Amino acid sequence: MIQITKDQEERALELHKRSLVIDFHCDAILATLPDAAFTIGSGQKRTLAERSTEGHVDIPRLFEGGVDCQVFAHFVEPIYNPIAPQRMLQLMGYFISELEKNSEKIDMVTRAEEIYKNHGKKISIIMGIEGGEAIDQDLRLLKVYHKLGLRTLTLCWNNRNAIADGARQQRSKSGLTEFGISVVEECNKLGIIVDVSHITDPGFWDALDVSKDPVIASHSNCRSLCPSMRNLTDEMIKALSERDGVMGVNFGHFFLIEQKEVTNGRIPTVETVVDHIDHIREVTGSVDNIGLGSDYDGFPNMAQGLEDVSKLPNLTKALVARGYSDQEIEKILGGNFLRVIKRVWK
Ligand SMILES: [Zn+2]
Repeated sequence: MIQITKDQEERALELHKRSLVIDFHCDAILATLPDAAFTIGSGQKRTLAERSTEGHVDIPRLFEGGVDCQVFAHFVEPIYNPIAPQRMLQLMGYFISELEKNSEKIDMVTRAEEIYKNHGKKISIIMGIEGGEAIDQDLRLLKVYHKLGLRTLTLCWNNRNAIADGARQQRSKSGLTEFGISVVEECNKLGIIVDVSHITDPGFWDALDVSKDPVIASHSNCRSLCPSMRNLTDEMIKALSERDGVMGVNFGHFFLIEQKEVTNGRIPTVETVVDHIDHIREVTGSVDNIGLGSDYDGFPNMAQGLEDVSKLPNLTKALVARGYSDQEIEKILGGNFLRVIKRVWK
């Protein structure tokens, strides 16, 4: 599938191993949580510790894929929204137990130095929240989550919450609410990365206006290549880059090519992921705003060649084959997200 010479392949594998690889979005918590009310695929039967052939992420496959740092999104299943803070604490409690059980292999990080320290030894884990429902209109809760290790917040999921409207509110003209503005300000104060994936376009522009720190789109692609409301327009990509933000490319089918093409039998591949990377580089003039946001375990069907996290070196091969330099590839694989981490975390 990837047209690559033997020499290029060797260079790619060596480069992948040497680089600090960061994936800024996966949903493996709900996929392994024993009592999840909502999960993509076959959760429940899997654990983080054991290698499974189902779903996308577990610790053995993270090692196989050469991942050095992984964001685990904590997402409250919509059925629990009336008690979202309580559910969030249950998710975090589960996750903290998993960290303790697997402390030889994974380590939750809250400072950039820890990511360097773990490189080549343990996988650094970043605690994220996907959807501000868990804050329940009370900034004191955000402070508690930060104390528990939270370092990146996706302001909303697809629905409306107290912060903003999500991507499913397609015709909404509303940006950040007054509370949403105060959440972004509090994130800046505490050192939590603000993530605009899933937000509506007006919300995106508000978040960029309000945030003093760079903003990220952890798992969103290019709308001009794939017309999903979850993807960013060229203007948005440019604005994000002008504020030194990063967008993580998403490997899920519907974010790579139009849904009706998928229905008609076209299957996106690792080359399609690189098409999106090419496009971002074209729009911004460099690779400095590109990262990885796989969406593993958050979307059922992943690009061919990137079927689960163990396959990640295929992306590096495809980038080498497409002519990217070693330095550019290192930035895409993690260097750019690391720059944002260093700038935002206090
Ligand atoms: Zn998501």
